[in-house]
Amino acid sequence: MSNIIAIVGRPNVGKSTLYNRLTESRKAIVDDFSGVTRDRHYGQGEWIGKTFTVIDTGGYVHGSDDIFEAAIREQVLIAIEEASVILFMVDVTVGITDLDDEIADLLRRSKKPVYVVVNKVDHHQLHHDATVFYSFGLGEIYNISSMTGSGTGELLDDVVQHFQEIEETDSLLPKYAIIGRPNVGKSSLINALIGNERNIVTPIAGTTRDAIQIHYNQYGHEFMLIDTAGLRRKTKVKENIEFYSVMRTIKALEEADVVILMIDAMEGIEAQDINIFHLAEKNKKGVVVVVNKWDLIEKNNKTTKLFEEQIREKTAPFTDYPIVFTSVLEKQRILKAIEVAAKVYTNKSKKIPTSKLNEILLPIIENYPPPAIKGKYIKIKYITQIVGKSPMFAFFCNLPQYIKDPYKRFLENQLRENFDFDGVPIQLFFRQK
Ligand code: GDP
Ligand code: GDP
Repeated sequence: MSNIIAIVGRPNVGKSTLYNRLTESRKAIVDDFSGVTRDRHYGQGEWIGKTFTVIDTGGYVHGSDDIFEAAIREQVLIAIEEASVILFMVDVTVGITDLDDEIADLLRRSKKPVYVVVNKVDHHQLHHDATVFYSFGLGEIYNISSMTGSGTGELLDDVVQHFQEIEETDSLLPKYAIIGRPNVGKSSLINALIGNERNIVTPIAGTTRDAIQIHYNQYGHEFMLIDTAGLRRKTKVKENIEFYSVMRTIKALEEADVVILMIDAMEGIEAQDINIFHLAEKNKKGVVVVVNKWDLIEKNNKTTKLFEEQIREKTAPFTDYPIVFTSVLEKQRILKAIEVAAKVYTNKSKKIPTSKLNEILLPIIENYPPPAIKGKYIKIKYITQIVGKSPMFAFFCNLPQYIKDPYKRFLENQLRENFDFDGVPIQLFFRQK
């Protein structure tokens, strides 16, 4: 079960503008300056307590007009297969074009929910013009202005009805997803782990479309591996290979408890890897970074440390996760990667007793209390862990609104130092008491 919204439509209708609005537009703009977001066309959104991933398909096509159109048609087909909900965007100021009609033809055959989103309805007079889009025969139309945000709330109200809280534990076994760019060694790792068993692995019923899950039970470890590498779709258009693999990756990530992010030692951690890392973090997944092809690196006694520092620097502020250096080719530290993933899973699932939390943290807080604000003293009285799919901590205090980010970071670090949440995103809440 995954919650993926794909925005499809021809160029210039406003897909990326809507994408920015549905994810965090301000952050996207900031990232743009650092050059990170050029290839960031998917991200996390939230509406009335439900989270989802949005993909702007427009980000994946470049090239001449005819390549463009073929690519867009194919993307629509991939979106129909892979996404949970499709937003078909059109432009009220242009009306219906041939390409719009072609896309509508493909979408009419889709079993997935399709929403016709008429964009650039910036003022009321344009509502009348929007009615032509009923002729697609795709049902209700949603008039929005991505620029101002008007109409997007009504659209999301309806869209998120298709989404449930993502359920992680439909099996009692931990689920690990091996994720990474093409050629980092994902297939080789899976083959090394399960030998030629893979050839006889059949997709588990009901999950066929989502990702192949492999049951692993050897050397004292039992878990499900979510395989993204084994599935390759034939794409006619080169650019769509990436689009398809991103779709797969997101689904695998949403299904997993722990994400094993594999990178190529020769290439280091790149913008795409960092995007995946942050997506895992935002989805509250456990994270292990595996640096593969370590055999190809010339090493001295500082190399490992240097690599680790470079990686953590790029994923900051979340830096508390294990990094394993493997050579699948030379069978080095393959089991170590699995052991570390198992440890992260344990860290993610554990519950610290309230008495222990308070026993350890309250004296630390007393020694280093939150700074007083406007002459008011802030007192943290007690702490409990809230049960959930990932660790959450509630700090009960007299003036929760006065606890600022630096102090929150201090508390998070204390939790990490004292209780080992290696590889696990944790959340802190401050409540009135
Ligand atoms: P994409 O190619 O489909 O991703 O389209 P973009 O998001 O890049 O938008 C294309 C152009 O339409 C840009 O100049 C946007 O500023 C503009 N645009 C996007 N949304 C709106 C809108 O709601 N109203 C108006 N008037 N312009 C918009
Ligand atoms: P995937 O696309 O991520 O599934 O990557 P593959 O498993 O297909 O590996 C891509 C290429 O990298 C293949 O030629 C592998 O033999 C090679 N490869 C995988 N792991 C290693 C490794 O640890 N060291 C070296 N030198 N090559 C590797």
